[in-house]
Amino acid sequence: MGPANEPSFRDSVDIMFNRAVALMDLPPGLEEKIRVCNATYTVRFGVRLRGQIQTFTGYRSVHSEHMEPVKGGIRFSMAVNQDEVEALAALMTYKCALVEAPFGGSKGGLCVDPREYDENELEMITRRFAYELIKRDMINPAQNVPAPDMGTGEREMAWIADQYKRMNTTDINGVACVTGKPTHAGGIQGRTEATGRGVQYALHAFFRDKEGMKKAGFKSGLDGKRVIVQGLGNVGFHAAKFLSEEDGCKIIGIIERDGGIYDEKGLDVEGVREWISKHDGVATYPNGTHETDGAKLLEADCDILIPAALEGVIHKGNAAGVKAQLIIEAANGPVTAGADEILRDKGVVIIPDMYANAGGVTVSYFEWVKNLSHIRFGRMQRRQEETRHQLVVDELERLSADSGIGWQLSPNFKEKYLRGAGELELVRSGLDDTMQSAYQSMATVWHGRDDNVDLRTAAYLVAIEKVAASYRAKGL
Ligand code: NAD
Repeated sequence: MGPANEPSFRDSVDIMFNRAVALMDLPPGLEEKIRVCNATYTVRFGVRLRGQIQTFTGYRSVHSEHMEPVKGGIRFSMAVNQDEVEALAALMTYKCALVEAPFGGSKGGLCVDPREYDENELEMITRRFAYELIKRDMINPAQNVPAPDMGTGEREMAWIADQYKRMNTTDINGVACVTGKPTHAGGIQGRTEATGRGVQYALHAFFRDKEGMKKAGFKSGLDGKRVIVQGLGNVGFHAAKFLSEEDGCKIIGIIERDGGIYDEKGLDVEGVREWISKHDGVATYPNGTHETDGAKLLEADCDILIPAALEGVIHKGNAAGVKAQLIIEAANGPVTAGADEILRDKGVVIIPDMYANAGGVTVSYFEWVKNLSHIRFGRMQRRQEETRHQLVVDELERLSADSGIGWQLSPNFKEKYLRGAGELELVRSGLDDTMQSAYQSMATVWHGRDDNVDLRTAAYLVAIEKVAASYRAKGL
């Protein structure tokens, strides 16, 4: 969290929302209806651990039910509180609208430090929390579908799905009650890395937008860009890995809980991740320069800053010192409303969270559809597609031989062309298409208006308009 003189996370989201609705012409009352959080459920439950009962506090918040099910991750962290969960649920509403995932917004959180418990204990805690939510229909394939967030991953999602099935033995769609499951438990290929992959696709979309690049002061594309990442967890790790391995970016700084590391030559992302998992942090990492106060690296010189850990890290106290021309909000709410204003004045372009990290919910949507249709994407068409492509290749080679031209299709072309699309290829293509279309819809507003709106406001304008259209259609 930022300094005390800043609004809370929830208020920050409202301030950004209000900035956008002030430019819209919504019917009286609708603005308020969209902004407010419909309901937040707080639960306290006990689990017998290490010979005594420990009490945990958890939340599930539903921001908007204009579409159902509502969707949003479950976070395990000691910092979880009602304000945070409600802010995150609101962001989910706007995010789903922006990328056209047909869900309302929700979010859950449990006050627990997962590093304090072993796997068996965590399973007991997760199942008990899931039980409390399932019996009140706050986890349900038709009403409320969680996913992973900070401190949770596919292991926790598999426990939740199993808990739901134990309590709803005849629900044939039970496995769709949660997304982000492992592939052997009803998950979809490409979900684990989806949010990081989405961050990469968002940057591809940005660097194809000449006007956007000009606004941020970039003259060349992604290749060679110097990047600093905060949080090498699920989202940060995958984003950093793809950008360095596939797009020629140099990850010159990594910030973790216990400090930061910096190397102008570029850090080995896989190596750092491995080090963190073995040594619980970056403090003892053998390469690069170390910074004990990791947050200082948010102000280090770089082209692109990727906050991918938690909210409120760029605040009024450090925003003026940020040197990056572009911030892509891989985390939810990393820039406070106060910092947002300072950065806008400095001309820094911010790719907002509701778009930047929407890859996760997009692929979660695909997983939910897969679960409801009970069949893997590509299973029916793949072989047929390959057979038809083989026919074309055979015919081309026959024509070439018969006419004496002697053309040869290169083995690389043949290999790529003949391969029918499997689940992973389809997921990537659907994600790429979603990120490109959503970028276009934001960029049209960003560049098309004459009142100089920033990209975040443009994203809110697009999202709120979609939510409003849904309410209008319902007659509300
Ligand atoms: P995660 O738990 O996998 O990773 C978080 C990382 O941040 C960890 O490596 C942790 O050590 C680090 N971290 C924690 N506190 C820090 C601090 N003070 N300074 C530096 N590093 C710190 O979580 P995640 O799933 O990668 O989520 C990260 C962010 O992305 C959250 O804001 C989350 O809401 C958002 N997000 C996640 C998903 C998803 O699919 N997992 C989807 C959309 C948005």
